[in-house]
Amino acid sequence: MEHLTDFQLMEYLSGDAGLLRRFLCRRHLRRCPKCAEQAKALQDELEAQRSLGAELKSVQKLAKEADKTMTMPKAPVFSKDN
Ligand SMILES: [Zn+2]
Repeated sequence: MEHLTDFQLMEYLSGDAGLLRRFLCRRHLRRCPKCAEQAKALQDELEAQRSLGAELKSVQKLAKEADKTMTMPKAPVFSKDN
């Protein structure tokens, strides 16, 4: 039996695979504990990456908001044509 590659599993888990490939992956995973285990490991990794990404986004958002509140008032702009 040919096993699924990490790439195929990632594609399947991330939902990037087409319908047929998703179907084939799912079928293989049901029969193959080895790939199923690998899929689980990859899924954990994927979720960790996702939550890391979400964390990064919220940190960026916080930084942006802090930036807004901490911005010094701008010096008054004088009209050029005096
Ligand atoms: Zn397999």
